[in-house]
Amino acid sequence: MIRTVLHLRRGLPSLSPPLLRHHSAAAIPEPCTQPEVHFNKLFINNEWQDAVSGKTFPTINPSTGEVICQVAEADQADVNKAVKAAREAFRLGSPWRRMDASHRGLLLNRLADAIERDSAYLAELETLDNGKPFAVSYSVDLPNVVKCLRYYGGWADKWEGKTIPIDGDFFCYTRHEPIGVCGQIIPWNFPLLMQAWKLGPALATGNTVVMKVAEQTPLTALYVANLIKEVGFPEGVVNILPGMGPSAGAAIAGHMDVDKVAFTGSTEVGHLIQQAAGSTNLKKVTLELGGKSPNIILSDADLDYAVEQAHFALFFNQGQCCCAGSRTFVQEDIYNEFLERSVERAKRRTVGNPFLLSTEQGPQVDEEQFNKILGYISSGKREGAKLLCGGGAAAERGYFIQPTVFGDVQDNMTIAREEIFGPVMQVLKFKTLEEVMTRANDTKYGLAAAVFTKDIDKAHYVSGGLRAGTVWINCYDVFGAQAPFGGYKASGNGRELGEYGLQNYTEVKTVTIKVPQKNS
Ligand code: NAD
Ligand code: MG
Repeated sequence: MIRTVLHLRRGLPSLSPPLLRHHSAAAIPEPCTQPEVHFNKLFINNEWQDAVSGKTFPTINPSTGEVICQVAEADQADVNKAVKAAREAFRLGSPWRRMDASHRGLLLNRLADAIERDSAYLAELETLDNGKPFAVSYSVDLPNVVKCLRYYGGWADKWEGKTIPIDGDFFCYTRHEPIGVCGQIIPWNFPLLMQAWKLGPALATGNTVVMKVAEQTPLTALYVANLIKEVGFPEGVVNILPGMGPSAGAAIAGHMDVDKVAFTGSTEVGHLIQQAAGSTNLKKVTLELGGKSPNIILSDADLDYAVEQAHFALFFNQGQCCCAGSRTFVQEDIYNEFLERSVERAKRRTVGNPFLLSTEQGPQVDEEQFNKILGYISSGKREGAKLLCGGGAAAERGYFIQPTVFGDVQDNMTIAREEIFGPVMQVLKFKTLEEVMTRANDTKYGLAAAVFTKDIDKAHYVSGGLRAGTVWINCYDVFGAQAPFGGYKASGNGRELGEYGLQNYTEVKTVTIKVPQKNS
C-alpha cells in the first residue's frame, strides 16, 4: 500500500535548507499531472529528425508502468549525422567559432531565462518521466539547472590564459581553447540537472556537443533542445539524441571524430567508455561514476539533526544518487538510539504519487532498477543483516519501494560494498576514529563522504583522511555550481562544476613569440 499523508502542501521537512533556498515550499504551484509532450524526435542541426532506421522506443511513467509516448531511437547512423553537424558548427570561421565569448555567455543566460520561464512545465515533465516528487523537481532540480547555466554563462568571457616569463627574448602566453566536438552521455537520476552540468562548461568554453540522454528519461532534455534553438544557438552547436547505451552511447564513445567524451553513470559503463576511447582516437575522457559513500556519525553529534541528515543523505531522490550516504557509520555509544530513531524516521517517510506536494518519495525509475534493489534487499537478509523496516514493494503498481533500513551491517556484506541506488539504508557500528577511517576508505569508490560532530578538531582530522572528492561536515548533499564535484578512485576522472569544471573542456595552447631586442 502507498502511504499518503493528509496534510497536503506541508512542504518537505526532510530536505536540507541549502537545497531549498531558491523557492519556499509555499511558492510551489499545483502541478498539472498530465503535461503534454511536445518533442519526441532527435534534435540535430537545430531540426527535429526521425531516426535513420525509423526506430522508436517507449518512455515509461514509473508511477504506473504505462507508456507515456514513443521516442525516436538514435543509433550509429544518427550519431554520425550529429557528429557531422557538430563538426561543421565547430569549423574555423563558423558563426559559433567567430561569436564573441561574451555573446556565448549571453546565450547561456538566455537559455537559463527560458528554462526559468518554463520551469513549472519542465518540473511536471521531469516528474512524469522520472518519478521524482514534483516538489523536488520544481524547487531543487529546476533552480539548480538555472543557476548552473547562469554560473557558466558568467565564465564565458572570463576564462583567461596566462603570460609566462620564459627564459630568453620571448613573449609567451597561453590561450584557453575549446577541445572541439564533445560527446556527452548522461543518466536518468537527474535528467535536467545532468544536462545543465554538461552543457554549461562545454558551451561557455566554445565547444560543440552531441549529447545522448538516458533512455529512461528523454523528454525534458528534448524540451530544452527546443529552448536552445529558441534563444539563438547556431545550428549544430548542440545536438541531442535519445537512444540506447550499447548502440548510440557506444557509437559516441568509439567515434573517430569526437574529441572528448563526458560520461555520468555506472562504473561498469565507465570502464567501457574509457576502453572505447583508448581503442579509437584517444579522445579525452571525463567520468562521473558510482559511489558507496561513508556518512560518519560521531557520538558527540546533535542526534536529532544527524538522524534527519543521514535519512536525507540516503533516501533523497529515491536513493538514486551517485553520492548517496549509503554506509552510515555510527559510533557505538549512540548506535542503538540512532538506529531506533532512523527506523522511526524511515517509517514516517511518505511514499506515493509524486505529483502530491506532500510526497517525499516517488517510484524508482524503472522495473530493472526496482528488481535490482529488491535483489539487494534479499542479499542483505540472506547475508545476516537485520532488516528493521521496509524490505518490499510499496504499491501494487508502479516501481515504488518501501523505505528500508538494515542494522548490524558488516563491511563484507554485499549491501555494504555495492551501489544499491535505492531507498535502502545500511547502518554500521564503529568504536574509534582510526578504525572508522580505515573502514570508510576500504572501497573501490571515492565520490563523497560526510562526518557529523561538534568537535572541529575531529571534523578536520576525519575529513583530511577520507579518500573522497567531496566531504561534507555536519551537512549532506550541499551542492553549488561554484564548487567542484567528482570522484577519487573508481568514482571517476575529472571534476564537474566550478572553475575546475572548465579545465575538462579546454585545450591549453602555448604561444611563444620572438621579441627582437633593439640593441642586439
Ligand atoms: P548506465 O551506466 O547503464 O547508464 C548511464 C548512461 O550510459 C545512459 O545514458 C545509458 O544509455 C548509457 N550507456 C549504457 N551503456 C552504454 C555503453 N555501452 N556505451 C555508452 N553509453 C552507455 O546506468 P543504468 O544501467 O541506467 O543504471 C545502473 C546503475 O548505474 C545504477 O544502479 C547505479 O548504480 C548506477 N548509476 C549511477 C549514476 C550516477 O549518477 N553516477 C546514474 C545512473 C546510474
Ligand atoms: Mg521514463
